[in-house]
Amino acid sequence: MKYMSTRDHATTVNFEDALFQGLAPDGGLYSPASFPTLDNNFLDRMEQLSLHKAGEAIMTTFLQEIPSSQLQTIITNALNFPIPLTHLENNLYLLEVFHGPTLAFKDIGARFMANTVAYLATEQHKKIKIVVATSGDTGSAIANAFFQMPNIDVYILYPSNKISRLQEQQITTFGGNVHALEVAGTFDDCQRLVKTALADDTLRRDCIMTTANSINIARLLPQMIYHAWGLIQLKQMGINDAPILSIPSGNLGNLTSAVFAKSIGFSIQHFIAATNINSVFADYLQSSTFKPQTSRRSLANAMDVGDPSNFERLIDRYGNDYEKMCRDISGTSISDEEIILEIKSTYQKHGYILDPHTAVGVAAARKSGITNEPIIITATAHPGKFPEVITKAIHLDIPLPPQLELLINKPKLSEEISIDYTDFYTKLSKRT
Ligand SMILES: *Cc1c(COP(=O)(O)O)cnc(C)c1O
Repeated sequence: MKYMSTRDHATTVNFEDALFQGLAPDGGLYSPASFPTLDNNFLDRMEQLSLHKAGEAIMTTFLQEIPSSQLQTIITNALNFPIPLTHLENNLYLLEVFHGPTLAFKDIGARFMANTVAYLATEQHKKIKIVVATSGDTGSAIANAFFQMPNIDVYILYPSNKISRLQEQQITTFGGNVHALEVAGTFDDCQRLVKTALADDTLRRDCIMTTANSINIARLLPQMIYHAWGLIQLKQMGINDAPILSIPSGNLGNLTSAVFAKSIGFSIQHFIAATNINSVFADYLQSSTFKPQTSRRSLANAMDVGDPSNFERLIDRYGNDYEKMCRDISGTSISDEEIILEIKSTYQKHGYILDPHTAVGVAAARKSGITNEPIIITATAHPGKFPEVITKAIHLDIPLPPQLELLINKPKLSEEISIDYTDFYTKLSKRT
C-alpha cells in the first residue's frame, strides 16, 4: 500500500515514510493511495471474529510492510482493553471506546502508533523524537503510550493554565522520555511551534522527528478497527441492518476513519458528524462553504476545534465532490445547554452517565429523528474525566477512576517555555 499527499496524488511513499514524515513535504496530509475492499467471504463471516482478528484483517491490507506476526503483536499490545457495544434504548447503541489507560478513544490510535514506532525503531539506528501539541486528551494518550520506550523521546506542548488540572497531571507526571513543555501561550501557539519544528531540517540531521497529532496516518488507520468492531458486535446481537454512525467530532479523525472503514467494504448506511458549538464542519455540510473559525470553549472541550485538520483528508476521499459527501454525511451542532440536558435525561431514564462528548453524539442521534434504523454512537470518553460537568448536570459527585486517582499526588515535572521558537529549538536539539 502506498500513501499519497492530499495535495499531490502523483507522488507516493510507503507507510514507514508517511509515519516518520507526519506531514507531507507539500504541506498536505498522507492518505492511502487506494482502498482495497475486503472480500465478501470475510464480511459475511465477520461476526465470528474477535477484536484482534478483525484488527489484523483490516490492518494487513494497509501495512503490508510489517510482517503479519509483528502486526499481530502490535495489535494485541495496543488494544489490550475491551471495546464493548452497549444497548442504550430502542435503536440507540453506545460503542465504549474509552476503556484504555487514559480513558478516551485516543488511546487506540496512540498505542497503535507507539507500538509500530517501537517496532520500526529497532531497524533504524537513529534516535526518534515525537513532537505533539495538545489541548488535553491527545497529550495524555501519547505520553502513556510512549512512556519508557527505548530510543524514543516525546515532547508534549500544552498551553499553560488552559487545560484542566486532571489533564495536566496526566501529561506531566511521567518524566523519563516524556518531556512535558508548558507553553506560555495558547493551543494555537503550541501547534505552530510543532509545525515550525517539523519543517526545520537542521533538527533532522541526527534524528528522526515526527508528530503524533492526528495528522499522522499511523494514528488514523487503527481507528477503523473499533468502528468495524461496533458493526461486528451489532451483528452478534442479531441486528443485521446496516447502522448509522453518530460520531462526536472535533479534528474529524474519528469520522475520517469511519469513512475509511466504509470504503473498504463495511456496511454503514450514513454518518452523523456531531459537533459542539464549534460547528465549522456542520455548517459546511449545510452551506458548502468551509469557513475556519477561532475555536470557542465548550463543555465538550476535546472537540473545541475551529479549523479541523482532517477536513482535507475527508474532501479528498470524496473526490472534492460536495454532493457526494452530503449523501453520506449529515452534520449537527449541539450547544452546551443541550449537552447538560442530554446527560441529565439519559441518567434519569437509564442510570447511564454520558461524558460531555458522548452526550453530543447521543443528542445528535436523537435530533436526526431516525427511530427505525440502528444508530451506533461512539462513546469517546469516560465520564470520570469530567467531574465538574457531571456534577453540574446530575448533581452527583462521581468517584475518580482509579487510573486518575493514582496521579493525584505525583509531582508535576514540566518545563516552561515561551512562544518563541528558539526556546523550543533549544529543548529539541539537546542530546538526551
Ligand atoms: C479528540 C476527541 C474527540 C474528537 O475526535 P476527532 O477525531 O478530533 O474528531 C471527541 N471526544 C473526545 C473525548 C476526544 O478526546
